[in-house]
Amino acid sequence: MPEKPTTPEWSTRRLSVSPISEIGVTVHELDSGRPGPHLLVLGGVHGDEVGGIVAAGRVASTAWPLRRGRLSVVPITHEAAYEADSRTSPHDGGNLARSFPGALGGTATDELAWLVGHRLIAAADALIDLHTSNAATDMPLFVGCLDDGSPAAAEAVRLARGFGLDLVWTHPSLGPGRTLSVAQERGIPALYVESPVGGVLDPGYVEAYVDGVRSVLEGLGLVDPPPGRPPRPEPRLWLHGNGDTDTFSSTGSAGLFERCVSLLDPVRRGQPVGRVLDPLGTVLEAVVAPASGYVTTLQRSARVERGQPVVAVTARRPPEPGLPHEPFTSRTRSMR
Ligand SMILES: [Zn+2]
Repeated sequence: MPEKPTTPEWSTRRLSVSPISEIGVTVHELDSGRPGPHLLVLGGVHGDEVGGIVAAGRVASTAWPLRRGRLSVVPITHEAAYEADSRTSPHDGGNLARSFPGALGGTATDELAWLVGHRLIAAADALIDLHTSNAATDMPLFVGCLDDGSPAAAEAVRLARGFGLDLVWTHPSLGPGRTLSVAQERGIPALYVESPVGGVLDPGYVEAYVDGVRSVLEGLGLVDPPPGRPPRPEPRLWLHGNGDTDTFSSTGSAGLFERCVSLLDPVRRGQPVGRVLDPLGTVLEAVVAPASGYVTTLQRSARVERGQPVVAVTARRPPEPGLPHEPFTSRTRSMR
C-alpha cells in the first residue's frame, strides 16, 4: 500500500565550488524522507529571464504534500548574471546555458557549470530548466525536450506531454553545452520551458510554469493529483526539429525589421514573414519563411544588424496513431 503523503519543511543550503569560493548556488530542498525520484528545477540559468526565476521561487515556497522522493529547486542558477540583469556573466561574458559540462580551474562561468552539472544535475532523476525568450526575441509558450529514441528521452517526452501546455517541441538531437546535454549524457530525462515577453513578469505564464512543475511531480509519483481532476489534455501542437540554421531566416541588410506574421502562425517556405525598412520606410528587403511549418522564433525589437536571424520555423511532428492531429492555428490557441 502506498504511504500517506507528508508535508515536509523546505530547507536551504549553499552549494559552492569550494569553501572559500563565491561561485555557487542556493538550493531549496524538500525531502519526503522516503525513497523515490529526485526532481531538480532550475531557474535563472540566464540571469535576465525573470519569469523562470519567479516561477522556480514559487515552486520553492509551496508546501507540496510529497508522497515519496524529493525536490530540489535553484531559483537563480547564474547569480552573477542575475545581479547584472544579463543573459551572460558580467565577469567573463560566459553564457551558462552553453558552458556545460564546465571545468574547475576555468572561468567563473565554467566553474559554475561544473558545479551545477556534477553536483546537482548528476544527482537528479529528472530535470526542468525554466527559461523565457529575451527582450529582443519572442518564442511561444512551450515545453521542449530531446526525442532521440533513448529511454531517458522517452520519459522526457511522456512528462512533456503531461506538462499541460498547448505546445510541445521535441528535438532529434541537442546542441552542446546545455543543461539538457549534461542530462542526456547521464541518461536523465530533462525538460525546458520557454515563453514570450522576455524580461517581463506575466502572472499567467508564471502560473503555467508552476502548474507544469506540478504535473511533473504528479507524473513522477511525488505528489497525488487533486481528487476528481480530469486528466490533463494532450498538447494541441507537437513540433519536432532542432532549430538549425536552415530553419532560420536572417537579414541581408541592417535596418528596421517589421514583421507581418505572429508566433505559431503556419507559414509556407518562401512566404513573406516581414521586411527590413530604412528610416524613411523604404523597403530594403523582404524576409521570407525559410521552411514550411510554424513560426517558433520571431524578432521583437525593430533594430537589426545585417545577418541577424529574425524568424525561425519548425515543422509539425508526423502524427502518431491514436494521437489527435487537428488543424492548428494560433487564432484558436487557448492561452491562459
Ligand atoms: Zn534562456
